[in-house]
Amino acid sequence: MQPPGSATVVVIGGGITGASALYHLAKAGCADAVLLERDTLGAGSTSKAAGGIRAQFSDELNVRIALECVRRFERFAEEPGGEIDFKQWGYLFLLSRDEDVASFDRSLALQQRLGVPSRRLEPAEAAEIVPGLVVDDLLAATFCPLDGYATPEAAVQGYAAAAAGLGATIVQGCAAVRIAVEGGRVTGVETAGGTIATERVIVAAGVWSRELAATAGLDLPVRPEARHVFFTGPGDPLPHELPLTIDFATGFYLHREGRGLLLGGRERSLEELASVAAARLPLVAELEVRGGWWGYYEMSPDHNAIVGAAAGPAGLVYATGFSGHGFQQGPVIGEHVADLALGRPTLFDLSPFAVERFAEGAERAELNVI
Ligand SMILES: Cc1cc2nc3c(=O)[nH]c(=O)nc-3n(C[C@H](O)[C@H](O)[C@H](O)COP(=O)(O)OP(=O)(O)OC[C@H]3O[C@@H](n4cnc5c(N)ncnc54)[C@H](O)[C@@H]3O)c2cc1C
Repeated sequence: MQPPGSATVVVIGGGITGASALYHLAKAGCADAVLLERDTLGAGSTSKAAGGIRAQFSDELNVRIALECVRRFERFAEEPGGEIDFKQWGYLFLLSRDEDVASFDRSLALQQRLGVPSRRLEPAEAAEIVPGLVVDDLLAATFCPLDGYATPEAAVQGYAAAAAGLGATIVQGCAAVRIAVEGGRVTGVETAGGTIATERVIVAAGVWSRELAATAGLDLPVRPEARHVFFTGPGDPLPHELPLTIDFATGFYLHREGRGLLLGGRERSLEELASVAAARLPLVAELEVRGGWWGYYEMSPDHNAIVGAAAGPAGLVYATGFSGHGFQQGPVIGEHVADLALGRPTLFDLSPFAVERFAEGAERAELNVI
């Protein structure tokens, strides 16, 4: 499909952020909105994500966003529609360092003040939830039953289908080459298939947002970090309803994937991950790994999202830098950037996430990064 000659808003990037933005634009009545995806919907980081959704953050804004996103994921089948297989089986953090226990205690207090039912567990309780865990060296664990995991590419399809149903246009296989600017305003998006005249652009191009925003003179300090995951076949002895379980010190995590398991972490090879994983859960050494994949985390300097309307050029809105939690923030962030682009009031004040914070020395670290 060729891109249209003009649009009220152009969204660049067809991952969870862009698809959610397009849906919320269309829902707000902007039926001529256009989404450009250079590959296919979900082809970037979104289809590589583990699908984790959690309220266990350290930053108050992230907890508030999470509470709203959990609510929306819970009723995704009603709006926008589609099955995302949200398994609310919890997140179980395993803590083996004094400093992590202190930090998680502070986060638990914050989460509970905001209404999150997260709680601290003894190591033995963690071993009851995940039989076979090595807990001798653990100091504590935390658990939240609101948390869980869903299927990211299904969420993209749900938003995209609903947006298309409301009249929005999705052009796949079409890269944005440059954001055109004149007189300090966005005037269009140049693509391989021609230029779309527009005064408003939402850059939702994941880790590739930096190069795209640079064409409009905006620096978004996001950098790629490759993350690998592996999956096993059926037949493991763990409970089917397994929480997303994370050994916080090493970053090793696992969750149920089909009838097998998904194993992830910071290591770049199966051999390296296997030794970290087996130290925490020896039974994984017996499981047959059938395959895996990798994708990029889009890392920001303080591990929080970079979201806002650019101070210049006018009409440029951006959302990137999610640092490993961009899938789960998609429902709220997509709506937020759609509202910013249309000049509507926003549900949350996300101005602390604007890119200017780095120049102003107002970075705000999210500590619970996996
Ligand atoms: C292994 C792994 C596990 C993860 N686990 C989780 C998790 O459990 N929970 C969680 O919340 N997050 C997780 N994440 C992070 C999450 O995947 C990302 O934060 C999120 O998907 C970002 O979505 P996005 O839509 O902003 O970007 P993307 O999904 O990367 O979408 C950007 C899109 O823009 C397109 N694009 C790029 N340049 C152009 C251009 N010039 N023109 C047109 N299109 C362009 C790309 O093709 C891509 O489809 C994980 C990531 C990885 C790699």
